[in-house]
Amino acid sequence: MHLKSKGLTMQAIFRPIVLQVAENPSVERFFHVNRSTRALVDRFVAGETLDEAIARSRGIARQGMTVTLDLLGENVDDEAAARAAVDGYETIIRSMAAAGLQPNISVKLTMLGLDIGDDLAIAGLQRLLPIARELGAFVRIDMEGSAYTARTLAIVEQLHERFPDEVGTVIQSYLYRSDADISRAIERGIRIRLVKGAYADPATVAYQKKCDIDSAYIRQMERLLDGGRYPAIATHDAAIIGAAKGYAQRMGLRRDRFEFQLLYGVRVDLQASLARDGYPMRVYVPYGTEWYPYFTRRIAERPANALFVLRQFAG
Ligand SMILES: Cc1cc2nc3c(=O)[nH]c(=O)nc-3n(C[C@H](O)[C@H](O)[C@H](O)COP(=O)(O)OP(=O)(O)OC[C@H]3O[C@@H](n4cnc5c(N)ncnc54)[C@H](O)[C@@H]3O)c2cc1C
Repeated sequence: MHLKSKGLTMQAIFRPIVLQVAENPSVERFFHVNRSTRALVDRFVAGETLDEAIARSRGIARQGMTVTLDLLGENVDDEAAARAAVDGYETIIRSMAAAGLQPNISVKLTMLGLDIGDDLAIAGLQRLLPIARELGAFVRIDMEGSAYTARTLAIVEQLHERFPDEVGTVIQSYLYRSDADISRAIERGIRIRLVKGAYADPATVAYQKKCDIDSAYIRQMERLLDGGRYPAIATHDAAIIGAAKGYAQRMGLRRDRFEFQLLYGVRVDLQASLARDGYPMRVYVPYGTEWYPYFTRRIAERPANALFVLRQFAG
């Protein structure tokens, strides 16, 4: 299928620049102290505390949607912080269950200590997954930059053998390797969230043009809808969402065989209309004090956001 190819050409140029500029400590300081950009942070991040995130999630649940909670943080480089992240996620699962929300979390392995070693991240998941089983929770392993893809998938495959109903992961359509990864996930019955990809991965490993990323996304989405286990179609791209609905209808797939997932604060109108039309709709709700890297990826994926920030910065 051929979809409009303008926007992401801009994005392909903007993203690596924005992500690189964002690494400058004075730029990060600017965002932490500047009031005019605070509203933009608040648009994408559901607060700094679990209580705030639960309150926002209850509001989302009242509109007929589910949530997945992300305790923000990544690239942790000491063991105590990695263990604290696991404690934090245990608290989230228990608090969601206590609040009557379907417990569902999104976890980055570098927050559980992947940079220190695979064993530490695996040990963290081995603590979380039995709790998930006890409380009927689902643990989604987010996908980070391409340097982590192979290790993340290997860890998920290993743990999925013991916890087939509790763990799943994410595949990024912009990576050349993803068609093969989709095949492995389908064969193993691993639940996949399909995304386009949010990192500045280079042309050696990833498509750069919107038309190439979109056609990979549609190809992989159709394969997941055909044979994947309860896939999550995670995009704000209205054309792709329309294509998913149309494909499911043509194939006679019931609406409860897959779900849509969108990010907190992005295309809220689309979120509400999907829920109103009876599609399972999950909102990804990030919260915490370590919001900066997540926030910069949201800025980098939309030139209009980057220009807004640039104007504040210049002012
Ligand atoms: C639930 C969920 C989980 C995700 N998890 C991961 C993950 O684990 N790993 C990973 O690499 N990426 C993840 N992503 C991000 C994803 O890879 C994309 O970077 C992001 O979704 C933007 O791409 P898009 O599919 O919306 O399409 P695009 O073509 O980028 O955007 C389509 C339209 O959506 C709107 N839009 C998109 N982004 C924004 C924004 N930031 N602000 C305002 N409007 C916007 C605009 O209207 C735009 O025209 C996740 C995305 C979602 C929805």
